[in-house]
Amino acid sequence: MSAHPLLDALLRHLDTQGDTVENLQRRLTAFRALGPENGGDGEMPKARQIAELLGGPGSPFTLRWCNAPDARVSCGERPNLIAHLPGREARTLWLFAHTDVVPAGPDASWTSDPWSVRREGDLLYGRGVEDNQQGLVSMLLLAAALRAALDAGAERPPLGLGLVFMADEECGNLKGLQHVLEQAGELFRPDDFYIVPDSGSPDGSEVEVAEKHVLWLRVRTSGRQCHASQPQCGVNAFVAGAAAVLACAGLTEDFPQTDALFQPPCSTFVPTRHEGGADSINILPGDDCFYVDCRLLPDVTPESVLAAARARTADVARRFGVEITVDIHHHQAASVTPQNSPVVGALAGAVAAVYGVEARPVGIGGATVAALLRRQGLPAVVWSRLLNTCHQPDEHSSIAATIGDAKVFAHVLCRC
Ligand SMILES: [Zn+2]
Repeated sequence: MSAHPLLDALLRHLDTQGDTVENLQRRLTAFRALGPENGGDGEMPKARQIAELLGGPGSPFTLRWCNAPDARVSCGERPNLIAHLPGREARTLWLFAHTDVVPAGPDASWTSDPWSVRREGDLLYGRGVEDNQQGLVSMLLLAAALRAALDAGAERPPLGLGLVFMADEECGNLKGLQHVLEQAGELFRPDDFYIVPDSGSPDGSEVEVAEKHVLWLRVRTSGRQCHASQPQCGVNAFVAGAAAVLACAGLTEDFPQTDALFQPPCSTFVPTRHEGGADSINILPGDDCFYVDCRLLPDVTPESVLAAARARTADVARRFGVEITVDIHHHQAASVTPQNSPVVGALAGAVAAVYGVEARPVGIGGATVAALLRRQGLPAVVWSRLLNTCHQPDEHSSIAATIGDAKVFAHVLCRC
């Protein structure tokens, strides 16, 4: 006799689901669930298909829609679907997957049609099969295994199971998880478990618990435009801006702190987009603008970086006789789930049991939907066993890993 009959039943069921993974991936990929920003009509047909799979007569799940109005799509809404099955305890294991995908890019860069899944041994190829349908399908597998076990007379699991299928992850989450947290925030309790299977490493060892601040600085330089043949009449904002670029790249010297949780372990400061300058080769440019992508360790404040960037560029402005303004174009705050949170320990135990590897907490440069959960005080981790082919041509995912991830969630659900 096993000590965990429910878990054993779930694992046995999951072992037989290889063809189910292929079939689900094939159906889900064909929906081409692109958001309107990406020229698509949204995620509704795909979300309805998921609801059909989870609901119906005799389903132990309660389904709730939490759709966000969006006039840009033909049905007028972006779908967010929440499925819940109560456990023996009040606490719930919540799993999150997004239904939207990114465009496939040029067909020529793919070996086969990106919207028609191709199987090669253990691997499935198609747009979205990894991001985020590996996680999505592993959630559906777990739900089906649980339903079969309950139908066969098994006791409910200790934890409840909550599945959230959300829209709009690829373009900012406003119509997706952000909307769910605003409209249905009461569902989520601080002592629940939160796992987002949307990022991870090929061996399953990385558990993402923290994200750096994302800070985008905009640096604008004003000089005086003139004809390039008479440079003494103007002040070249492009040349001064170039000096400002180098000055901002030097911000690393002002913030040398390191934290081994993160890779790289330091804050980073990277000049990226450049705008303005002259339209014509014979114009000495009077305006220049560039951006700096900063990823800051949680203890580094955006205000201190802004002040340091202003001090560095003020020096450039003096030397070149231009005016330089630095402002914050965008900021998403750092977020951290404490490494001693119960979800981290439960997940590490499950990963060891299923994959035989030691899970370790890591921090990333950001930014995932876990930050939205953490900001509400909900202890979220991002984990999956992934090959990391998302957003690329020939995106692919492993059937074995999809089933393995579902087994990991089954372990956490049964807390063994
Ligand atoms: Zn994703």
